[in-house]
Amino acid sequence: MPTSEAARFPGRLAIRFPVVDPATGEAFDEAPDQQPDELDAVVDRAHRAWPGWRADPAARTAALRMAAGAVEAAGDDLARLLTREQGKPLAESYAEVARTAARLRYFADLAPRTRRIVDGRPVSSEVRWRSLGPVAAIVPWNFPLQLAAAKFAPALAAGNTVVLKPSPFTPLATRLLDSVLATALPEDVLTVVTGREPLGARLASHPGIRHVTFTGSVSTGRTVAEAAAASLSRVTLELGGNDAAVLLDDVDVDRIVDRLFWAAFRNCGQVCMAVKRVYAPAGLHAEVVEALAQRAKTVTVGAGLDPDARLGPVNNAPQLARIEQVTQQALADGARAAAGGHRLDGPGYFFAPTILTDVPPGAPVVTGEQFGPVLPVLPYRSLDEAVDAANGTGFGLGGSVWGTDLDRAEAVAERLECGTAWVNHHAELSLAQPFAGVKDSGVGVAGGPWGLYGNLRPFVVHRPQEA
Ligand code: NAD
Repeated sequence: MPTSEAARFPGRLAIRFPVVDPATGEAFDEAPDQQPDELDAVVDRAHRAWPGWRADPAARTAALRMAAGAVEAAGDDLARLLTREQGKPLAESYAEVARTAARLRYFADLAPRTRRIVDGRPVSSEVRWRSLGPVAAIVPWNFPLQLAAAKFAPALAAGNTVVLKPSPFTPLATRLLDSVLATALPEDVLTVVTGREPLGARLASHPGIRHVTFTGSVSTGRTVAEAAAASLSRVTLELGGNDAAVLLDDVDVDRIVDRLFWAAFRNCGQVCMAVKRVYAPAGLHAEVVEALAQRAKTVTVGAGLDPDARLGPVNNAPQLARIEQVTQQALADGARAAAGGHRLDGPGYFFAPTILTDVPPGAPVVTGEQFGPVLPVLPYRSLDEAVDAANGTGFGLGGSVWGTDLDRAEAVAERLECGTAWVNHHAELSLAQPFAGVKDSGVGVAGGPWGLYGNLRPFVVHRPQEA
């Protein structure tokens, strides 16, 4: 019989903070505001659950598969709550729930490989893999469920236990997910804690944590790395991006414009690896701006629960203010809005889908991460100039090259300084591939077997071949 939440977290339910529906700007529920001093008991329980969980790989596989089924069975409730607190259209929430279940199922069946070292010496040397212990997973508000699963599914599959902290902007769907997963996982193998800062900071520096896996902004990532240094725990950081899409002079604009638009605007542009800058050849620039602006002007913006909405609100008030600020600064510096450029009237955090042209190359909307429904389109004269500009920020998450000659496009994609480069696509990821940013976009590798090994340590057994 699982211990009740009240017994596991005495005092936890008493202090609460409001959770806002971004479609209305009004609080619609609350979540427990756990205090940092509660983490000692949480991490201690995660430690005590670890030996049982790591001991039996077959039981882990069965439990994770069952967890995937439980997530699918709760899909309606999870998706609706996710849309309510995050803002994304319901269809995108369903897709996120499906990806959450898919991650559990993928890692359930993945096991590390023991390797024998063969180097000519008369010894037997074997590399086996061991789990690390309690893992802290800290995630942002843009994809609360699937980013959490990207962390806890490989960590649990590797035999670790996990303490998961969602963003205070989106704690509710993760709490529901916690109760859904509790039907499949042993107690204390996964614990969700919710609360405002300094809860995350304290979790990242907790001496009982052996691996901090963080997804969020570059600046918080630096703080997390410093905090984790106190206990020398392993750190994986999946940070911000400022992905460029480079269009080549043989691109078929009509053919790619829809894909390009959604690569920038899905989830209201709040995607780490969204297209955040477009570079178009000077001769095609006006056509590209016009084609993207047409999409931006005709897309239906509305509350995520409205079945007609293709674009929802921005998730939270500070993010909306940031988007408004970088847009206004660009406009003040000489940019022109070919579409949008302003907040939408009425309640909620809605911003008109915006295409910017004539943007000064040094504008913050180009050099920084806007993380919203605003896209600058910049002209270039030579391919070298475009590649230099694409590589010219501190970020290095993804990038893409678009053209008709695929070999030529791939050769340009090879020159992008990032973790993933696409041709005629952007932000398409397989569960089986590695996902890693370079420069300020991250440290460590997630995804596929690499994500599993990121949650394991090698353990070598060395013995002579004869006594
Ligand atoms: P954020 O850095 O503000 O917050 C991320 C998480 O860290 C939240 O849970 C937050 O509560 C917590 N946090 C805040 N301060 C902390 C501290 N001092 N110590 C520990 N934890 C702390 O990011 P955000 O605004 O929630 O998310 C947007 C950012 O996330 C964007 O930069 C986006 O690109 C990035 N992101 C990256 C990826 C990726 O895979 N590379 C994926 C999604 C989002």
